[in-house]
Amino acid sequence: MRNPLLTAAGCLLCVTLTCSAQTAAPAGDAQQFNPIPGFDTAAMDTSADPCVDFYQFACGNFAKLHPIPADLPEFDQFENLIEFNNHALREIVEKPAAAHAAPGSNERKIGDYDASCMDTDAIEKRGLAPIQPELDRIAALQSTQDLPALIAHLNRLGTGVFLDYGSMQDFKDATREIAYVDQSGLGLPEKDYYLRTDDKSVETRKQYVAHLANVLKLLGDSPDAAQSEAQKIMDLETELSKASQGAVERRDPAKIYHMMSLTGFAATVPAIDARKYSQLIGSPVVQELNVISPDFFPALSKTITGTDLATIRAYLRVHLADSFAMRLPHAFDDENFDFFGRKLEGTPQQEARWKRCVEATDVSLGEALGQLYVAQYFTPDMKAATVRMVHDIENAMGKDIDEIDWMSPDTKVKAKEKLHAVADKIGYPDRWRDYSKLDIVPGDDFGNAARSRAFELDYQLNKIGKPVNRQEWGMTPPTVNAYYNPSMNDINFPAGILQPAFYDKNATDAINYGHIGAVVGHELTHGFDDEGAQFDAQGNLHDWWTPEDKKKFVEKTDCIVDEYSQFTAVDDLKVNGRLTLGENVADNGGVRLAFMALMARAALAGQPSATTPEEKAESTYTPQQQLFIGFAQNWCTNQRPEIVRKYVQTDPHSPDALRVRGVVVNMPEFAHAFGCKAGQPMAPVRSCRVW
Ligand SMILES: [Zn+2]
Repeated sequence: MRNPLLTAAGCLLCVTLTCSAQTAAPAGDAQQFNPIPGFDTAAMDTSADPCVDFYQFACGNFAKLHPIPADLPEFDQFENLIEFNNHALREIVEKPAAAHAAPGSNERKIGDYDASCMDTDAIEKRGLAPIQPELDRIAALQSTQDLPALIAHLNRLGTGVFLDYGSMQDFKDATREIAYVDQSGLGLPEKDYYLRTDDKSVETRKQYVAHLANVLKLLGDSPDAAQSEAQKIMDLETELSKASQGAVERRDPAKIYHMMSLTGFAATVPAIDARKYSQLIGSPVVQELNVISPDFFPALSKTITGTDLATIRAYLRVHLADSFAMRLPHAFDDENFDFFGRKLEGTPQQEARWKRCVEATDVSLGEALGQLYVAQYFTPDMKAATVRMVHDIENAMGKDIDEIDWMSPDTKVKAKEKLHAVADKIGYPDRWRDYSKLDIVPGDDFGNAARSRAFELDYQLNKIGKPVNRQEWGMTPPTVNAYYNPSMNDINFPAGILQPAFYDKNATDAINYGHIGAVVGHELTHGFDDEGAQFDAQGNLHDWWTPEDKKKFVEKTDCIVDEYSQFTAVDDLKVNGRLTLGENVADNGGVRLAFMALMARAALAGQPSATTPEEKAESTYTPQQQLFIGFAQNWCTNQRPEIVRKYVQTDPHSPDALRVRGVVVNMPEFAHAFGCKAGQPMAPVRSCRVW
């Protein structure tokens, strides 16, 4: 299931979504939730000229109306829907019935998992006892010969130290599940955090070292020892960062696919017995595996050999404590938030524990919790309506391929073949995961988290050498997000995002196509962005383009790279046009497909203008204008500068306002809908179009 291309890209999000007009809350009645309309006239700044700055026109008042809650780094439609879903999930996990359900049942497991997570008195009372056996193991490390067993054990607990081992679909044979091994072990979000020389980055590194020292002190080290160990851990991670692949490199399938024999791989990392590690982590016996980042391992080996064991032990202890911070006494949780939330993202206040526990329950038991969520919040009529819309968007893509003038008939045949092979996954999986072998013990929060992580790893490792299960999902049903997986050639829309305002049964087609329609179009276009276009209808990394068409495609995508590279994200930071290319292509294609689908549906109905009561309510705007405003309002946001900075450095999506402006400037349909004159900022004479 894991596809290394999906670590950040492929999905819709880093941020928000929209809520629809006339709606109250989504189906069900989670309390304390204030829906934002999908067509939110209050958020608009109608004094702005849509042809000069469309984001300002559609979203200009949003930030004023929606201050960022103290416990969030940003606020937008996505966060608002996440808030709704959290309330909905809380009702499910806290139902008295859950506590009395049959032991071993899914309902009982989610109830017990959440209740144990919420029992902070018990967590406080147990102190370090739950992780003491793990700390003892680390303390017992006396030779690098013991490292394979220790790293495998910590990786099984979900602690990402030194390397990452798992299963994935073979890029070149999508019917196969293979083993992979990948770089891991950096505490900061991305390699460049260790290497940049600007003041802000230097300051962040100082704060990180202070954080490492604070965690070591909480683990019982003296202040002096902690300070010195922290600096040495920083040196160790800096060495690893230099050999790590960066975010742009990792978007290129060829750079993250290197099949090697296990013996050949083992020779690149002599400091760790790779065969022993592979066995101890619980992998089936493998002869070969994908070494995702081959340059990393010789450097890892050298770094381990050149580092004293005391520093390695300190490194392992810190990462163990950080990865279980919320399962430990509150001082660990506070320290973890202070660095990763307050300093890195600018968030003043830790999110309420009940939200974090609900989210943790979703991570550990997502398809058990999701089954109950779907029953209550994703009705058959919602599924039918979204299926219809997905088909409309796919039909629009077929027409789009027919009409584009730069692609030859031969490549068009292949593109259509790929389009017709796309699998639509909507709402929830047809078959649910089996959690019967996962033990959830009341009162054992740490143990529940640790067992869940090992259970998930075993589930993934168990696939190696077996045929691919194409029914599987990579997101849980309550998730407010969506993705395209090039190896599966499928588009996936969890029930969690098919809610108001993204999809609202009371809204006009124009508004729904602007919101969720653009999201569907976005994911479908990922199959044909610079990354997705390298995979064929069956999900294999295989070039189906004629050389001439490929050349034209690259010229078209280069236009998008140049366009977005000129945008400023925050302060002096420019958008990285290469890192964001796939998402920008998907944003552009997505809105065009949604627009085409709406026009086709309106023509079918024979009534392109506003006639239904809902449409009359929005009748100031034509259906075309509603679609563009609905789309833009997916991305109305209020963000702290720290989180914008983090996104620009790590996230393959462009900043929200640019996801709006960057798209409409490329659409003559937009200029026409709003009567913009050629040469106005939102209707430039030169523009880009891929799809
Ligand atoms: Zn995307």
